[in-house]
Amino acid sequence: MKHFAPLMNNYGERETTIVRGAGTRLYDSEGREYLDALSGIAVCGLGHSHPEVTKAIEEQASTLLHCSNLFNIEPQQRLADRLCEISGMDRVFFSNSGTEANEAAIKIAKRYGTSRDILCPEIITFEGSFHGRTLGAVAATANPKIKAGFGPPLCGFLHLPFGDLAAVKKSLSPSTVAIMVEPIQGEGGIQVPPEGFLQGLRKLCDEHGLLLILDEIQTGNGRTGSYFHYQQHGITPDVLTTAKGLGNGVPIGATLAKGPAAEVLVPGSHGTTFGGNPFCCHVADRVVALTNECMTTGAEVGDMIREHIERRLVIMDAVREVRGAGMMIGIELHQPCQQIVGIAKAHGIILNVTADTVIRLLPPLIMSKGEAEILVDKLAAIILEFSESHRHD
Ligand code: PLP
Repeated sequence: MKHFAPLMNNYGERETTIVRGAGTRLYDSEGREYLDALSGIAVCGLGHSHPEVTKAIEEQASTLLHCSNLFNIEPQQRLADRLCEISGMDRVFFSNSGTEANEAAIKIAKRYGTSRDILCPEIITFEGSFHGRTLGAVAATANPKIKAGFGPPLCGFLHLPFGDLAAVKKSLSPSTVAIMVEPIQGEGGIQVPPEGFLQGLRKLCDEHGLLLILDEIQTGNGRTGSYFHYQQHGITPDVLTTAKGLGNGVPIGATLAKGPAAEVLVPGSHGTTFGGNPFCCHVADRVVALTNECMTTGAEVGDMIREHIERRLVIMDAVREVRGAGMMIGIELHQPCQQIVGIAKAHGIILNVTADTVIRLLPPLIMSKGEAEILVDKLAAIILEFSESHRHD
């Protein structure tokens, strides 16, 4: 009999109970095995139950879980060093999620503005974006569905078409303090901006003294081949946010900053009880090191998946476009396809659908070429089954 737990209904009804994971596989309460092509939405880049991650968890669990930010925390300092070395940023603030990482970035931008006598600092963000669920992050998010029902959003955000540099240029005002952008939009449907867009934003920020905030919560942590996606574009942000794959399942977010933006937060201006705790930082430090070792091979497998899907599926009339980078892949169909999640599950594949019409694949970076071939074969069958069932729509 189904157990109805007293949980709030924000996730709706969930049909499958996942009880165990090993490598690229997940197992449900009925004993069924799935090939995981979603990684808990870009979280478990190293797959499930990775022995080195488990070891790090055990090490720190038996040493010190928490002591508060009233003290120096060695794992926090080590992880900050490692992330700054990788990213070229100067300082880090640790939190517990992507939303909180963005909330800190927004607060940095607002305070950066007010310290320059801008009364209502404005941040430019983009249509199709997703930056999280707190009220600040919701205000930054340009998706009406995410904002609906929560009253007037926090002021000071302007949403412009993604990829449109001319629109950004035209919309700059004396109140503009920052531009916040996902290098590839994730929830928005794996939208890759036009060539030169990110460099163009960097140039505008340099010319006008604005902060470039890159939200790499989904694109970061090796997902697209470099540790952060911007490293493939020859630019550096002023503020960088990450979470998801940073902890491989242990909850952690990070806001990194460089130059003047790194000096905005002063004692008392921001904080969190759990953020940067010894446990999450020790585990994340190991996860980052391991991610660095496997991300290049991971991206090669991801590119192979995309190429094979393109070759095999574009000939199918159900598919409009295949896009992405490395292990971040979107397959856009001609029609809403939420139903494909259930069809995929029946074929033993975990994936999801975003922006109504886009099948999203975010496989673990450790997926082998053999497993990737199985995934592509199954995807062909899944899409075919879906389009057959909609042939007469
Ligand atoms: N920003 C981006 C680009 C995301 O993809 C997400 C989550 O999907 C978030 C922010 C919010 O992160 P979290 O769910 O950890 O709060």
